[in-house]
Amino acid sequence: MSAECYPIAKVGGLADVVGALPKYQSNSDRTSEVIMPFYDNKFTQSHEFSTAYNSTLELGRESYNFKILTLDNNAVGFDIYFVKIINLLTVDYVYSYDDANRFLAFQIAALDWILTWKEKPTIIHCHDHHAGLTPFMLQESYKYESLNKIPVILTIHNAQYQGSFSHDKVGLIPAFNFENIGLLDWSGMINPLSAAIKCAWKVTTVSPSYMEELKIKANGLEDLLVAESHKCVGILNGIDSEVWNPETDHYIVKNFKKSAVASGRKGNKEWLCKEFNLDLNKPLFAFIGRLVGEKGAELLPEVFQKALQKENISVLLLGSGHEEVESQLESLKTEFEGTYNAFIGYDEKISHIIYAGADYLLMPSRIEPCGLNQMYALRYGLIPIVRKTGGLKDTIIDISEDGFGFTHKDVEIDQIVNAIERATLLYQDKTAFNKNRKRIMSIDHSWNASAQEYINLYNSLN
Ligand code: ADP
Repeated sequence: MSAECYPIAKVGGLADVVGALPKYQSNSDRTSEVIMPFYDNKFTQSHEFSTAYNSTLELGRESYNFKILTLDNNAVGFDIYFVKIINLLTVDYVYSYDDANRFLAFQIAALDWILTWKEKPTIIHCHDHHAGLTPFMLQESYKYESLNKIPVILTIHNAQYQGSFSHDKVGLIPAFNFENIGLLDWSGMINPLSAAIKCAWKVTTVSPSYMEELKIKANGLEDLLVAESHKCVGILNGIDSEVWNPETDHYIVKNFKKSAVASGRKGNKEWLCKEFNLDLNKPLFAFIGRLVGEKGAELLPEVFQKALQKENISVLLLGSGHEEVESQLESLKTEFEGTYNAFIGYDEKISHIIYAGADYLLMPSRIEPCGLNQMYALRYGLIPIVRKTGGLKDTIIDISEDGFGFTHKDVEIDQIVNAIERATLLYQDKTAFNKNRKRIMSIDHSWNASAQEYINLYNSLN
């Protein structure tokens, strides 16, 4: 159960994981199906759906008709179902002010439907707080009693977002024994993520280091994670190596194999430099991502300014987020015309060409539960410069420690600029630079190993 799934609706890494993991799980003796909300977006407008189930759900005193839809000519590679609730879920955004009601209705519809299945699922796997009331409802709501033997797993993709809402809405949750209301509560609010941590049979996070970090810093939930640590495990995400393959990627302007990394990447860099008015001969440092504190984004304007003044480099940024950061990044364009550019917005094609054509990828993240960008970067031969945290710590080894990337300890301007300086030196040694690109392209972060870890976890439960 998930709010996002690539290529249907993607806000961040959650979509990539939910869009890839089921494909790899289907290679085992288990089949996985995804259930997600039906949004009114480009994908749903351009695909045909059939109705698998039709019913009415109760959300407190309100009733809503809903449909479970399936995708005709399914091209995603696994079975996927959509909860369509007109006037509630069928909106053109994934997240907004009305998440509490929408995602609760989504979960109720999904469970109401599962109640009608002759053969029940062997595992229910919930992703993030949007599906976080499901473990509670399965355990506590009277109407789902017949499902309460189904093992339920929570995967935390990002513990910053917990979906808290006021106790005033408790009446929206299908009736349960009020003596157990404490399971829903955290700091005086109904907190779906904490409820899921308490009620799920197993809790996973998307990298082993992030699991450890959450016990120290989890936006208020650290004590809970320490208390529940016996059932918690960190499993590193993989990447969908079919979608993210420089040999076949249809977004990029020149496809390439490891053996032709230099010429292949040059073709893509040429496109970037032409499109964004940058010098092909300078090392190109890129950033792709949400412009938020978690990603260290507010430091970027000053980092870029300092690095561009000191070093003979170019910088290209793709992202959107905090308005103030966006406008600072925009205003650098005039000061550094010809060596700096930024595309403020979301653009899948440009992102792929950056993976295929830039020389270094900056990820000065404060919090990075797993991070997919650095794994895509490795697959395409783009060298990552990362802060040692969460999944970045688990995947990138500094070149000075016999590794292949550049790491820095803190989210600090001088440390990031220093890493850029070290990377610039490597760029000047063309043989070592190319050798390193080939080396990183050989690192396997495909889902095969991680999908198996999830299967092992399921097998431990039934
Ligand atoms: P998070 O989920 O915290 O945003 P992840 O590293 O897990 O970070 O996943 C980010 C995903 O979103 C990657 O696939 C990345 O390429 C993509 N992405 C982020 N911002 C943009 C953007 N502005 N344009 C295109 N793709 C983006």
